[in-house]
Amino acid sequence: MTQYMDTRLLPAFSQLIDGCLVQGEGAPLAVVNPANGETVTACRAASLGQLEQAIASSKRAFGSWRHSDHEQRRILLDTIADTLVAHEEELARLITLEQGKPLALAHFEVQGAVAWTRYTAGLELPVSVLEQSPQRRVELQHKPLGVVASITPWNWPLLICVWHIMPAVRAGNTVLCKPSSQTPLATLRLFELLNRVAPAGLFNIVTGAGGELGRALCEHKDIAKLVFTGSTGTGQDIMARSGATLKRLTLELGGNDAGLVLPDADPATIAQALFQSAFINMGQTCAALKRLYVPDALYDELCERLWEQAKAQVVGDGMAEGVTFGPVQNEHQLQYVQELIAEASAEGATLLEGGQALPGQGCFMAPTLVRDIAPHSRLVVEEQFGPVLPIVRYQSLEQALAWANEGEFGLGGSVWGKDPEQARQVADRLECGTVWINGHAEVLPHVPFGGSKMSGIGCEFGLDGLLEYTQRQVVNIRGRG
Ligand code: NAD
Repeated sequence: MTQYMDTRLLPAFSQLIDGCLVQGEGAPLAVVNPANGETVTACRAASLGQLEQAIASSKRAFGSWRHSDHEQRRILLDTIADTLVAHEEELARLITLEQGKPLALAHFEVQGAVAWTRYTAGLELPVSVLEQSPQRRVELQHKPLGVVASITPWNWPLLICVWHIMPAVRAGNTVLCKPSSQTPLATLRLFELLNRVAPAGLFNIVTGAGGELGRALCEHKDIAKLVFTGSTGTGQDIMARSGATLKRLTLELGGNDAGLVLPDADPATIAQALFQSAFINMGQTCAALKRLYVPDALYDELCERLWEQAKAQVVGDGMAEGVTFGPVQNEHQLQYVQELIAEASAEGATLLEGGQALPGQGCFMAPTLVRDIAPHSRLVVEEQFGPVLPIVRYQSLEQALAWANEGEFGLGGSVWGKDPEQARQVADRLECGTVWINGHAEVLPHVPFGGSKMSGIGCEFGLDGLLEYTQRQVVNIRGRG
């Protein structure tokens, strides 16, 4: 199977329930390496009975963890960050094995998990005094909610899980995670490590398909909050199913981020950053640049410079030395992206580099640039989520802004140009949760991140993100009783 992976590092369990590492009792679950199509490990999903056990365990653990103090929570998260540092190499290898990204990027993912955990360790829930008068004292405090269910996608499996679970626990909740059935391994190992340093039941994990377990989580009365990162369609289903129990929800959903190049931009200066913004993680990043609008006068030069960036990539197995560009995570995703590219091509667009699945095993496609594409081609207006960038030519900035703001998504957007004043004015007119100027897709632990329109509800990161895991409680104190 894997010459480059010590198979002893593969988790020998598929669930962590109440401190016990156990096998699932549900349907078979196979994890496939996207670099060669081989099955990495075959285990079993959790049964609905095991899901019930996990929820009951999380609920019991909440009974005591809700009373933990600031210092206990800070120490636990700092200890977790130290544990992640000590296990960076093996976690990174598991990520590359199941997700496909180059090993250096998998290391970056684990390092991100450490940074977010450390930052969250240092956060504190505020207590504010709203009134202090002879009549009364009114305080606003923030209480934990209960059991938080975290449902994660396959693109950044470890980091996104950490984004969910660390603030949840920091705020006094317990967590039950269901990772993507396509990429559960690094998350399972993470939970095994968490279990060594945390009380039983604080961190539970069940694995399996979203259809069965995910839906059961949405409908369960003992789940107080659900935090979900994934596609907009699944987010809509979750919201509908969570209605009966009025669950608190944070939904981080799809995006189709636009980048607007202004006429004063210098193609030589921006080409590399533009390329990285679009192709980070082989384009499988919610807040990656997904469509680019370029003025006529700069169009040919910028396409040429982006093409140079694309040609410099070394496509291959993410475990191999020197590889900078790994596979798409799954066959289905690769086929969908190719279908959109073929349609654009038939409409008259030109492909620079790539566009076809590479021969042999594995889901490989070189980074693909599509030029002279119609502004309403499906490749431009749908969330393609793959290693391709459509480049749309524009004559008028007003027209380009209108195109950028079209569509159901509103996650991020960017403006690229020399004059900061003008760039800022254009950025203010983009309708999305985050706007970058001369950059894209940068997320930071202390900066709230969340989508507008159909890209999500609520936010993550910073104090705003922490408060999403709490219930406001007002304490109104009047004189003597
Ligand atoms: P997905 O929606 O198919 O699956 C995500 C998770 O939901 C998986 O764990 C899956 O098993 C589970 N699931 C599936 N059906 C469910 C249901 N009916 N009820 C409950 N859970 C269910 O998404 P994906 O294909 O794994 O990930 C790609 C998508 O995620 C893209 O749309 C991308 O934009 C989005 N994403 C968004 C962000 C963000 O922060 N906005 C970040 C990363 C990825």
